[in-house]
Amino acid sequence: MVFARFSRTSNGRMVETTCLIIDDSEGVRNRLIEGLSSAQVFDRFITAEDGLEGFRKMRSEAVDLVLCDLDMPAFDGFKFLRMKCGDPSLSEVPVILLTGREDVDSKVRGLSAGASDYLTKPFDQLELIARVNVHMNLKRLRDELREKNEELERLARTDELTGVANRRYLMECLEQEFARSQRYQRPFSLLMADLDHFKRINDSYGHQVGDDVLVRTAAAMRSTLRQNDIVGRYGGEEFALMLPETEVEGALTVAERCRQMIEELVVEVQGVRVPVTASLGLATNPSASIASVDALMRVADGALYEAKRAGRNRVVAASVPEAGPDHP
Ligand code: GH3
Ligand code: MG
Ligand code: MG
Repeated sequence: MVFARFSRTSNGRMVETTCLIIDDSEGVRNRLIEGLSSAQVFDRFITAEDGLEGFRKMRSEAVDLVLCDLDMPAFDGFKFLRMKCGDPSLSEVPVILLTGREDVDSKVRGLSAGASDYLTKPFDQLELIARVNVHMNLKRLRDELREKNEELERLARTDELTGVANRRYLMECLEQEFARSQRYQRPFSLLMADLDHFKRINDSYGHQVGDDVLVRTAAAMRSTLRQNDIVGRYGGEEFALMLPETEVEGALTVAERCRQMIEELVVEVQGVRVPVTASLGLATNPSASIASVDALMRVADGALYEAKRAGRNRVVAASVPEAGPDHP
């Protein structure tokens, strides 16, 4: 049975807090709901009559706290705790055991089996609310900490100006993907893209316009890529595009699309269009001449240099040397 109450906001987001009550006695379940409803701790209550039903409900919907009877026919609180703690997605949800037993032994067993706390039946409503509040507050702090850590991890991977991968994260991904490509002999392409005469843009229109061009270029490239591709800012006005499972032909198509999108970017300063173009160099693994990420980048860089030398605003794929003793 589900008892919906109200929603509240936390951190500016709508969150609904849910309490799962597992007890074979309908009277106890109702008393718990009644006690907690008056304190407005939860928005919703879900109930179950034994540990197995409770575990299944926990698997199918988000639960913030569990109140679980210890003594239940067939599937008791200990079995529930064992199942719940064995599931990594549920292990952090606090469980308060409800025990009719006075013996210390079962309380200790319950706590060492993973319960956060216990209440001895018949429980006092005020004590129930106080203990639930303690564990809900702890859980809220844990959730906030996890969210902050995730945000920090995201920031540590991201280039501040453009929002694409930063150089460190890009290199990490390249190392991983390169190793995978070597191990399974899977194709893997790397594109290096460098804006043409970018210094002139800065010099003629100012650094702010230069920054804007970088942001727009990164967004344009990101919009053309697939889920597993990664675009990163390698340096000032140089980007790298990592294309797993992509042969030369596919990578050339991507490169040409990027080149065109950059050329078509409309950046205007006081009604004057700022010309934006880029040159791109492509290297594809496996290749006899590439044995490391460094080598892959050197080859892509060489192709990029060729594109610059040939007049810019173009794509050049590195020529693949023949495998053999003369071409290590
Ligand atoms: P080429 O076509 O040969 O690549 O010429 P270029 O002018 O693009 O290359 P160069 O390496 O001479 O100049 C790169 C410029 O990029 C110089 C530097 O001030 C500018 N730059 C690097 N990082 C940033 C940034 O974050 N914002 C802005 N606005 N400019 C940057
Ligand atoms: Mg440049
Ligand atoms: Mg450059």
